[in-house]
Amino acid sequence: MADGSVKKVCVIGAGTMGAGIAAQVANAGVPVLLLDIVRDPADRNAVARGAVEKMLKTDPAPFMGKGAARLVEVGNIEDDLARVAECDWVVEAIIEKLELKQDLYAKLEAVRKPGTAVSSNTSTIPLAQLTAGRSDAFKRDFLITHFFNPPRYMRLIEIVAGPESDPATVAKIRDFTDRVLGKTPVDAEDSPGFIANRIGTFWIQAAVNAAFDMGVSVEEADAIGGKPMGVPKTGVFGLIDLIGLDLMPYLQKSLTSTLPASDAYQQIARSEPLIERLIAEGYTGRKGKGGFYRLNREGGKKAKEAINLQTGEYAPQAKAPEISGPAGKGDLAALVALPGKTGAYAWAVLGPTLAYAASIVPEATRSVLGVDDAMKLGYNWKAGPFEMIDAFGPAALRASLAESGIPVPPILEAVGDGKFYRIENGKRQYFGLDGQYHDVVRPDGVLLLADIKLASKPLLKTASAALWDVGDGVVALEFTGKMNALDVEVMKLIEQAIPLVAEKYKALVVYNEGTHFSAGANLGLALFAVNIAAWSEIDKLIAGGQQAFKALKYAPFPVVAAPAGMALGGGCEIVLNSDAAQAHAETYIGLVEPGVGLIPGWGGCGEMLDRWRNMPRMPKGPMPAVGKVFEIVSTATVAKSAAEAKELGFLRHTDGVTMNRDRLLADAKARALAMAEGYMPPAPPEFRLPGPSGKAALDLAVQGFRARGLATPYDEVVAGKLATVLTGGDTDPTEVITEERMLELERIEFMHLVHESGTQARIEHMLATGKPLRN
Ligand code: NAD
Repeated sequence: MADGSVKKVCVIGAGTMGAGIAAQVANAGVPVLLLDIVRDPADRNAVARGAVEKMLKTDPAPFMGKGAARLVEVGNIEDDLARVAECDWVVEAIIEKLELKQDLYAKLEAVRKPGTAVSSNTSTIPLAQLTAGRSDAFKRDFLITHFFNPPRYMRLIEIVAGPESDPATVAKIRDFTDRVLGKTPVDAEDSPGFIANRIGTFWIQAAVNAAFDMGVSVEEADAIGGKPMGVPKTGVFGLIDLIGLDLMPYLQKSLTSTLPASDAYQQIARSEPLIERLIAEGYTGRKGKGGFYRLNREGGKKAKEAINLQTGEYAPQAKAPEISGPAGKGDLAALVALPGKTGAYAWAVLGPTLAYAASIVPEATRSVLGVDDAMKLGYNWKAGPFEMIDAFGPAALRASLAESGIPVPPILEAVGDGKFYRIENGKRQYFGLDGQYHDVVRPDGVLLLADIKLASKPLLKTASAALWDVGDGVVALEFTGKMNALDVEVMKLIEQAIPLVAEKYKALVVYNEGTHFSAGANLGLALFAVNIAAWSEIDKLIAGGQQAFKALKYAPFPVVAAPAGMALGGGCEIVLNSDAAQAHAETYIGLVEPGVGLIPGWGGCGEMLDRWRNMPRMPKGPMPAVGKVFEIVSTATVAKSAAEAKELGFLRHTDGVTMNRDRLLADAKARALAMAEGYMPPAPPEFRLPGPSGKAALDLAVQGFRARGLATPYDEVVAGKLATVLTGGDTDPTEVITEERMLELERIEFMHLVHESGTQARIEHMLATGKPLRN
């Protein structure tokens, strides 16, 4: 995964950010040296080592797998600073104090090798101040790389180059953060707060002020300012709780002290006595005793409470009325037009925030794309500010701003009757500073189905899937149902696709751009069939899925699965049945069927057995692989990264991993094409399995778990059926079991379970609550 230009990285400062950045470098397979100060002379590396140890226990995990942690070497700045000469990039992530950073750079100047890039993770200090006093050579190799917290999961990185930065150095680091670390670099100017935090801090302040001033409760504010605006459902108050109330005055101070007096933020920045009191009393948010929300554990109960902004007292959290209709689904003009406090509050947040976001172009970044990417990737907004303005209607927004006495930013005037984005000749274009529209140009190696869709029609389409020509003789099979669930319509498309691809194309990739690859079989439909006792329909779904997946496996062209996000149950099984996978590093994959009282029914059992018996260092004989697969599947284990998926056998060790989500399709396509020349479908596997004696051993193990309270009564039933399939049913190791027979066993035991009330209760519960029932 590592590329040639940066072979080793040094991160200085092993706090929240430095440790997380080091972990992400290691996740990419690149060795990293992590240094911090000496706090204990007797144990000089204790700070950096402690940071790594803490990360191994952190959830969500900063490391993608055990191997990654081993790539982090720890040290201290007194004994090990000279070792930066071994590194091609030094990331400084020490505390936000200019003198300390300057002092460190002076020392680095003496030890780094010429050409080693040095970057700061500063959130607030201008580049010009950081490099004051340094040599020209140092300034050439210096830039700001502003990661977001947590570095593994947040995709944004803001890149700031100074007037003296060498474009080649900046390009090298930019490229490394993109391809190797999987981040999306956004170019920012050397202006206060860069892009995302500048807009984010303004937005938070506007939302907090309006809630206090308009008598809008915390719950109402988050219900209006969260989902309906395409903002994570934490809204603003939930977000402050998450990042820490104590960070707010700090961010505020940093911006008010660096922004010019004329900046709109200066007019809205203010402190609230209630917030000051909360911070002083340790109510700093989730990391403290609670914040705007808290979990009150008094009297042994867990009660969710929210603070009353007017009285400062906590009260049981009230359920704010959900905003329905178009106003709840992204129609921002409809949202601000809602009667009463709801619409008024929505406008009080949106109007000033969108105007502010538009006003910082080009001072903070040179294009509308930078603003939109920064807010989508750094704050998880569904749409960027300019996309929101388009949804609102630029002309309508201008009129509303004028009515509210808010100055209309120049770029919003300039766009006139047009919008900031348009589709022209199948290409997405954006409105530039020159008043012209320009194509959105993707970096080399980025291929998006979203772009392909603008310029073409699907080759085939059913109610739950579509087939696209993605160029160079490769097609992509896309799931299109809710949660990308799999059903007969997907299987139908696969059946239609195979002869078409065999005749006219070279290879197929299974790919989509949903948040999640697939949540598995459509349980709602399955339950509906159960409720009307349509058993033959369920049997057909299982048999049809098996046929479709095996038809893909034995098709005369390579099939490469490209999962990203969750690939669960049936979503995992289509990956298992593919010839190869190119997975996004953030793939969460597993056979979770036991959670809903079922077992894998689309070939997952045989495929996993086949993988595990071929794992390196697997002991001989039929039982070890059976035991391993049983352990993984009966407990519905989900790999929390592609690296973990390889350890668990959901991915092969030879499968590819792509760090940057936007590069997944191009990588999968390249992998498929590399396999296409002289491709031969695999030979069907044959198994020798332990039979009833093996099943007895597995049953005994489950009884043990039950006795220790680790398995429920119905877990035992489900595990029993899984054990029957994995041990080959009524067989013994002298007999050869075909793949066909394995599929038959899967089908039989699956159908047994579907008839059980315990399974039906689990499915119903999952559909109603999204959580497994422990019956
Ligand atoms: P932190 O307080 O968690 O960690 C700072 C670390 O630096 C500590 O481990 C400290 O021991 C170490 N340190 C202090 N002086 C040092 C020195 N001279 N040499 C080596 N190590 C030294 O801070 P953080 O939140 O990780 O922030 C680090 C940097 O990243 C700051 O510039 C901050 O503005 C920026 N940043 C923070 C966030 C965030 O969300 N926390 C996000 C983006 C950027």
